[in-house]
Amino acid sequence: MQRGKIFVVGFGPGDQEHITKRAIDALQQSDHIMGYKTYVELIEHLVTAKTIVSTGMTEEVSRAQEAVKQAEAGNIVSVISSGDAGVYGMAGLVYEVLIEKGWTEKEGITVEVVPGISAINSCASLLGAPVMHDSCTISLSDHLTPWTVIEKRIEAAAMADFVIAFYNPKSGRRTRQIVEAQSILLKYRSPDTPVGLVKSAYRDSQQIVMTTLAEMLDHEIGMLTTVIVGNSSTFFYDNKIITPRGYQRKYTLGDEKQIWKPHQRLKKEAEPWALDQETGEAKEGYEKIEAIKGKQEPTMVPAKRLQEAVNDEQSVSITASKKSSLEMAQMALACITKLPINSDFLVQQEIESIFEFAVSPGVANKMITPKQMMVIAEVVGENGTFEYTPDHRFNVKIPTENPKAIVEKLKETGLYVLPLGDVLNVKACDFCYGEKAESIPYAEEIMDKLVGMKLPKELHVGFNGCGMACYRAVFDDIGIVYRKKKFDLFIGAKPVGRTAHAAQPVAEGVEPDDLISLLTKIVEEYKENAHPNERLFKYFKRVKKIANFHYQDMSCKIKIEEAPCGD
Ligand code: SAH
Repeated sequence: MQRGKIFVVGFGPGDQEHITKRAIDALQQSDHIMGYKTYVELIEHLVTAKTIVSTGMTEEVSRAQEAVKQAEAGNIVSVISSGDAGVYGMAGLVYEVLIEKGWTEKEGITVEVVPGISAINSCASLLGAPVMHDSCTISLSDHLTPWTVIEKRIEAAAMADFVIAFYNPKSGRRTRQIVEAQSILLKYRSPDTPVGLVKSAYRDSQQIVMTTLAEMLDHEIGMLTTVIVGNSSTFFYDNKIITPRGYQRKYTLGDEKQIWKPHQRLKKEAEPWALDQETGEAKEGYEKIEAIKGKQEPTMVPAKRLQEAVNDEQSVSITASKKSSLEMAQMALACITKLPINSDFLVQQEIESIFEFAVSPGVANKMITPKQMMVIAEVVGENGTFEYTPDHRFNVKIPTENPKAIVEKLKETGLYVLPLGDVLNVKACDFCYGEKAESIPYAEEIMDKLVGMKLPKELHVGFNGCGMACYRAVFDDIGIVYRKKKFDLFIGAKPVGRTAHAAQPVAEGVEPDDLISLLTKIVEEYKENAHPNERLFKYFKRVKKIANFHYQDMSCKIKIEEAPCGD
């Protein structure tokens, strides 16, 4: 006799477009299909099974038992769940019935759980991108879970600033849970936190409501609704609910403010809502206010919003008359909740601008004076960072909207302030502590005329004051070496990786007076013609010629022996 099989199939939100191919295959292979009758109706037209058994909502255990019985008799059976069968669905129940009978994978019937799109995903897609960041699902059904446990989970998720998808939020008889859930959430989250209510996602009777934590109960919520509550940085935009991945934007000297590139956005510091890893405290800029809606629990509100609320005319007297923090918080909240929510209203985010740049004591000079060090420390302050780099300079990051004052202060002490990013940099040797100083003026001219020039990719010019080139100019994108009162020129090193190689020597004995114009020609040609992100060595290899210099392959062609013990 054929060995029986159970498919536990999640058929997604309910329409034909969002069911997986594997789910359809499973349903079509099945001799019997079993499920709650509303669900059976949704997939009936897709299948040719011999029998389709629809059962009532509460008959889940007997449905699972019947499925196991049929499979044990050698049949192929599908048990269906909406969404994903492993999310408040039939998958666990089928396994529980099997386990009770001593089932093992080796000897028992075959079981395959076919994944489906769960409500958290289908509903989120209709709202915009509300989930995006750390999230959880909580079922508000207390049929099988004690309410005290559910309450604790809501509290924990609210406290930890998870985006929350509430499943089974309400039914005809179960109406209190969502009210309780709202009041727990309000202890930790602003009343204007965006909330999405999605009923019957991707079914004919689909309904989408965008509301707020304060107002969510004014709308219809039922058995077929999923309630998605944003975290503290979720916002509305153009009739969508969006949870951002980051809040910082970076800029450097002479640059427009820019958003982070994707790989930078994934950094820990791009996540403002994260509490401090060590202390568990809120980040600077977010402040705890002592109470909300009369409850004595602390909550977090961005400091700026709180300040704005305090500045509002109805609360001008707050600071003067020394109101209690509770009163201040209540008045502040009153201001916040006045905010209208409609399709074109955009909640203001706390966007922090990070000004980043490099500082260096000079092109030849590597010495930083104590005074300069103190000024750097002063401008970096408590909130910035500075990092010493192999290029003999500090990379500095400071959250500020006033870069000018910082630059002036640093320049006053004789420091160079340089942009970061895809720009031209120059690194020179120390000219044997000034003993071989002859070519320093040329290095300084490069610093004055070309450093900071925007390019398709960062470009390092290495400048060394004698033929020893001990600062390894030949391992830079462009190497310039002063020798016998003239310059040797190298182009296109690849300093890292398995195929690393030195730059190609392209010219010897360049007259000092011609150096800057030749260098300018090379970088301008590269700037004009290179692809975005294409490093100089790649560009040179691709176009084969730069400023009349012809490309030669400098990469090492040594054959690598296979390991004697390798396959
Ligand atoms: N296994 C299902 C969840 C079953 S619990 C899944 O993974 O999606 C039932 C709850 O799921 C409902 O109360 C509702 O909150 C949610 N739900 C299921 N399908 C939905 C749909 N199409 N639209 C909105 N919510 C849905």
